[in-house]
Parts: sequence; structure tokens; C-alpha cells
Amino acid sequence: MRLFLCVLREYTAQKAKMKAGNGKEEVEIMSDQIVRALCLSGGIRVLVCNAGLLAREICSLQGASATASIALSRGLAGGALMGALLKDGQRVALKFEGNGPLRKMIIEADSDGAVRGCVGDPDADLEPVQGKWNVAGLIGKAGFLTVSKDLGAGGRPYPGVVQLVSSEVGEDLAYYLTDSEQTPSAVGLGATLTDDGLVAVCGGFLVQALPKADEGELEKIAARVAGLPALSVLLAESGAEGLVRELFGDIPYTLLESHDIFFRCGCGQDKVERALLTLGSEELRDMRSKESGAEVTCEFCRKTYSLGAAALDDLIAQASEKPGR
Ligand SMILES: [Zn+2]
Repeated sequence: MRLFLCVLREYTAQKAKMKAGNGKEEVEIMSDQIVRALCLSGGIRVLVCNAGLLAREICSLQGASATASIALSRGLAGGALMGALLKDGQRVALKFEGNGPLRKMIIEADSDGAVRGCVGDPDADLEPVQGKWNVAGLIGKAGFLTVSKDLGAGGRPYPGVVQLVSSEVGEDLAYYLTDSEQTPSAVGLGATLTDDGLVAVCGGFLVQALPKADEGELEKIAARVAGLPALSVLLAESGAEGLVRELFGDIPYTLLESHDIFFRCGCGQDKVERALLTLGSEELRDMRSKESGAEVTCEFCRKTYSLGAAALDDLIAQASEKPGR
């Protein structure tokens, strides 16, 4: 637990305002990416992401309120960072379930950089408390974070569950990584909105102590994490690489790689049909008797899939062949 720390410098419920040269208010968003770096002694790994574009798109698709947008943006940045820890072909899903009005927040990330996310009640909103976004109140103080990893190769997703420690998202992820995965970690996530309620800046960092980490370097980086200025300002001014620089300070490090992160839902007609099949033949027959077809809306991208009567009949036939499904 040497480096179990977390800073969330984005508590302030202020909106990002960047003045362009002509005095007109403009918000510039940099392309979304993840940067991975390692200190030269090999014991500290740093991942930083800029996720403003995908967070803006996903929060708009969800029709998320201001506080829900901040919560979801933090979740998306956290999910992107968790996704970057995966090996090729693997996936991770984060489910925050608390007793707050948001009800739940689900984030899924693929190793290739694709991220998607949704919340239980996008309209849920709370007044800021002492000038800070009330993300903890929206998610709810009591609840659980479930992290499921699909490690590919046909294996079953492997779930890890921890209690929510602060419901501020970053700290909960840091606790999961430190407690459940036994890798001392610090996570900082931040997001700001424009006056129109769109995501202006979103991003974050993940610092992990690897087994051969040098104690002195760990102390140094922990102090830098604790003293960081607002993440949104750092990201807007100097990008992901600037944040890596800021985190390492005078600790020698090397940039290992960077890759794009982006929104991709991955839903489709076949997946909708497979999901309907799991309802079983009885429920499908019931649906068929009441409606001439079925409409299913993807909770992530809000795309609607329609199944006609014939398609439902076909599913009923398939479900009947496989009792118990
Ligand atoms: Zn979808």
C-alpha cells in the first residue's frame, strides 16, 4: 500500500473558459490518446490519457446532466487507463453501483483503445457542494465497484469486487488496483464542462509501483501526485505528455508508446438477438403475443434495433431448441 494515493483536483464546479485570440470564447479539445511511460530504474509505470472528445460524444449521446457528465467523464478516463493495462484482445468492464440517484455507471474498454460507457439515470443531477461537483453524492457513498476482465481465449470474465471508498471514481479505481490486483496505484481523473454543458476537458493519470520500485523515487512521485495543479489545466495546456513530465519531475523516465483512444460501441443486430435469446422461449413468446415485434435500444449508444414478428418467431424456435437458455 506504499503508493495508495489519489488526487482529484477537479472538484471545483467551474466551467472551462479559454479565450481565443479574437476574444471569442472557444474551447479546444486535443485528440484523445494514451501515453505510457516508465521510469528508467523500471519500478514506476505512468499512464496518462486525454479523453475529451470521446467523453464529450458519449455524455451527449447519454443526454447526461452536468454532474452525471463529470461522473461519466471520470469513469471513461479511468476505463481508458484500465484498458491500456490489458494485453491484445482483452477487455475490461467497470461497474459502479452505489445508492445514489445515478444508480449505476458502466464503462467498457478494449485493449485497442475503444471505450464506451453509460449511466443508469442520465438526468440525475445534484447541486455542487461548496463549489465542488457532487459526484460522490450522485453515485452514492455506499456501494460496489465491480471490475470484470475478459482475458480472451474464450475464458469467462474474471470479476473483482471492492466497496466504493469515496465514490469519486479515481480513488475507487486506485483502491481496486491496490487491494484487489495488489499493485499499489494512484489514480487522478478530471473533467470540466463548457457553459453549454458539453465536456471541455477530460483525462487522467495512473501511477503504479512495480515490484522493483525504488523507495526514494516512490516518495518523490507520491509528493508530486499530491502537489499537482488542476488536471484539466495541465492537460489543456501541455497535453498528455506534459502531464507525464509533471508527474515524473526529475525522475528519469522514458516514453514507451502512445496510442489513440476513441468511442466505439460494438453493439449490433446479432448481439441484440443473442441477448434476447437469453430471455428464454417463454418470455419471448409472451413478447410475441403482446407485440408484433420488438424494439431494443442499446444503453451505450442509444441505437435502436427492430425485430419483426418473423425474427421473433425465429428466436423463439432457437430458444425452444436450447432449453434453459
Ligand atoms: Zn450501441
